[in-house]
Amino acid sequence: MLKNIKGTHDILPSEVAYWQKMEQVFRSTPQKFGYQEIRTPIIESTDLFVRGVGEGTDVVGKEMYIFNDKGNDSITLRPELTAPVARAILQYNMLRSYPTCRLWYYGSCFRYEQPQLGRQRQFHQIGAECLGSQFPESDAEIIILANTILRNCEVPAFTLNINSIGTIEERQVYRKVLTEYLNDNSDTLSEDSRKRMSSNPLRTLDSKEPQDKAVVESAPNILDYLGAESSDRFSLIQELLRASEIDFTINPRLVRGLDYYSHTVFEFRTDLLGSQDALGGGGRYDDLFASLGSSTPTPGVGFGLGVERLILLAKKLSETNSSDPNAPYYSPVDTVIVSSPEYVKSVYQVATKLRSKGISVLTDIQQRGFKAQFRDAEKVHAKVAIIIGESEVEKNVLTIKNLILREQVEVNAQDGALLQIVQYIIRG
Ligand code: AMP
Repeated sequence: MLKNIKGTHDILPSEVAYWQKMEQVFRSTPQKFGYQEIRTPIIESTDLFVRGVGEGTDVVGKEMYIFNDKGNDSITLRPELTAPVARAILQYNMLRSYPTCRLWYYGSCFRYEQPQLGRQRQFHQIGAECLGSQFPESDAEIIILANTILRNCEVPAFTLNINSIGTIEERQVYRKVLTEYLNDNSDTLSEDSRKRMSSNPLRTLDSKEPQDKAVVESAPNILDYLGAESSDRFSLIQELLRASEIDFTINPRLVRGLDYYSHTVFEFRTDLLGSQDALGGGGRYDDLFASLGSSTPTPGVGFGLGVERLILLAKKLSETNSSDPNAPYYSPVDTVIVSSPEYVKSVYQVATKLRSKGISVLTDIQQRGFKAQFRDAEKVHAKVAIIIGESEVEKNVLTIKNLILREQVEVNAQDGALLQIVQYIIRG
């Protein structure tokens, strides 16, 4: 039997309602902050991610889906959307008429990872980027927007960790001190952390390995290496989060995986999903545009949230609320038209009229008898059945049956009363 590819996931009709609810929040929340939607292609040149995400990262080094197309160009299925959005901003010179640009996105990403609960090879991210401001107000705005999306999606029990990793210069000093400390404790470190010691020692700080955690516990604190300006900027962000009634924890061990971050980094986590506990996060990336070849320095800050993990949490919540996780494959419909094959044209005429007025209608497409069609009416929770049988056609009427009260009336087929009665019953 043909099956979906490992690490991908079919969203079946029984699950789609969760997605639609979230997508509704994605469409409405960023707009309340003045963000516009952008949609970029799923495929990009490989070079975009090598330059925009960084060769040293796991995403680029190990996880990208790369192929050569028929023109022998190296193409990559996007593993994230910040670099594509940045590319579009540069390509269309979107900052030319206004100094800042606020964009949000929602779409599929692809990473060749070992699939497990909450980790797939094709997954979705909702995110936003705020370009053109180097000021901490924009960092706070982005964190508040992400937090509001999680709240509006009714995600239960999430926490927000924030940190500042300072400027490149501050980080260089800290990196030296940290490397010395890690070197002194290298016997106790995990193999991965020992390997990363020269290339990216900061990554050891958020390592999940128990032996690393013990060493990191007493490691030098990056916040002690920030200059006055960086500290002030971090303080203002905290004040703005408090003013916006957002709870957070300062976590000096949070560095996140990407090469291009500076100053602010943040992450949303949950205790309810086991090892895949990160719901999403982001940070400030003032150097990204330069890596993409832009000669104008363009500060930016953004976030990405993993939608599959939000859905997993929403499902958990609905299980505790004891709603039915195995909801049937039938979409609820207002009305069914019960008839026989010889009157199918009338059925289609009536259905068209009702649908044009916003009433949902199910009609039989299997040439079955009345009994089966009434069974369908129950399955789709229809409130109204419109019957077009032999006697109705003879009298040029339609029978409207109220399936809740089990009452029925006849109306003239040409009469506008049909619509009124159906609407009246549906509204209850
Ligand atoms: P990142 O771009 O790596 O910071 O990821 C942001 C968020 O996307 C993570 O916190 C996850 O919620 C989600 N995410 C990343 N990789 C995957 C994946 N392979 N499967 C499902 N969700 C993912």
